[in-house]
Formats: sequence, C-alpha cells, structure tokens
Amino acid sequence: MRFDILTIFPDIFESYFRESIMARALDENLINIKVHNIREYSKNRHKKVDDLPFGGGPGMLMTPQPLYDSITKIKKKNKGPVIFMTPQGQTLTQTKVEKFAKFDELILLCGRYEGIDQRIRDMLVDHEISIGNYILTGGEIPAMVMVDAISRLVPGVLGEKESLNEESFSKNLKRKKEYPQYTRPADFMGKKVPEVLLSGNHKKIETWRRKNLK
Ligand code: SAH
Repeated sequence: MRFDILTIFPDIFESYFRESIMARALDENLINIKVHNIREYSKNRHKKVDDLPFGGGPGMLMTPQPLYDSITKIKKKNKGPVIFMTPQGQTLTQTKVEKFAKFDELILLCGRYEGIDQRIRDMLVDHEISIGNYILTGGEIPAMVMVDAISRLVPGVLGEKESLNEESFSKNLKRKKEYPQYTRPADFMGKKVPEVLLSGNHKKIETWRRKNLK
C-alpha cells in the first residue's frame, strides 16, 4: 500500500511513523508513505500558500495553484483516489477503512487555515472524509488516522499476536464490543482477575467472555 500525503507541515508525520507497528510495516515495505510539502510547489515568490476568502469572512484559505500543481504531479505516480480530510466529509468508519484498504495507492490531502479553495475540491478530490464531528487545526492528524487504520488491514502489518479476528468493530457491529481483558499480576492491590480466566478451561472462558461483552 502506497500513501502520498500532501501537507504544509510534513514534519508532523515523522515521529508517529517512526514507532512500533507503523515503523515495522515501513521497514518491511508492506506500506510506503511519501510526505510532500505543498509549499514547495508555490509559484509565489514568498512561497505563500494562503489568501483571504472572496466575499469576506474569517481566516485564510489555501490557494489553488500550489494544491493543483502538487496533486497533479503526485497523480502521475500514484493512481489511487485523492482523499481530502475535512470536517464536512463523510465520517470515517471501519467499513470505510476496509473499502480504502482495497486500493493499492491513496493520496491524502491535509487542509489548514479555513480549508481549501472549492475549485480544487471540484477538480481533483475524489472523496471527502471527516474523522468526527469536531474541528481540528489541520488535516494532518486525520490523515494519520487514515494511514494507521488502513495500514493495519494490509496483510502482514499486524503480527500474529495482534490478531484481526477478534476485532471490536466487525462489519455489522455498530458499537464497540469487547470483553474485559486482564494481564499479570493476577492480584493487583487486592483486585483479583476473574477466577475463570486462570482456569485454563477454554470453553468456560469463552462462555464468560461472551456473557461479559461490553
Ligand atoms: N473552516 C473549516 C474548518 C477548517 S479546519 C470548517 O468550518 O469546516 C482546517 C483543516 O483541518 C480542514 O481543512 C481539514 O483539512 C482539517 N480538519 C479539521 N477537522 C477535521 C475533521 N474532523 N476531520 C478531517 N479533517 C479535519
């Protein structure tokens, strides 16, 4: 799976992708992430990427030229859909994550300021995705959420230990369902792990877990 991410703050992505499962997936070439700085495409002599909205209103908007040039250049190498991260988009769900995971390539566009010029959305954006009904300062965290959720569905990214079989959100589950889980020690400050989980009786454990789904 190849991700191309467009942002004016490329450094935001570094530390997250350098750790844990994401780092291993990158090392093993199971996923490939390229982060591109939109500002480098600006033809403005001060490398400006924002301007005032026509008709007035608060804040600034990302101008179309650097977005157009960066997206069209990346589209030559990445044939996947362009996904714009925006609070006005469709809310991300596990079902949508599964759909995006079927692609081999994706292009993720991160907005800043009050968002981007509408013409870029009309001309170049295939999907608009929100990570929830709240407003962040930029699309970088939403893009990381997408990359993380999609990457763990790429075969080989999760080790045997981190199984996909017992997921909280399966296709038909609307709400999170998981049984309570415990690890060592069996007695923590007098709070004991339910006896059945220490019994080694898999049938009983299974029944207990089913009864205690939350
Ligand atoms: N004025 C816009 C908010 C802009 S927030 C509005 O009212 O809708 C700046 C950028 O952050 C957006 O362009 C988008 O890329 C990103 N962003 C903020 N909240 C987001 C969310 N919930 N999901 C996805 N992207 C979000």
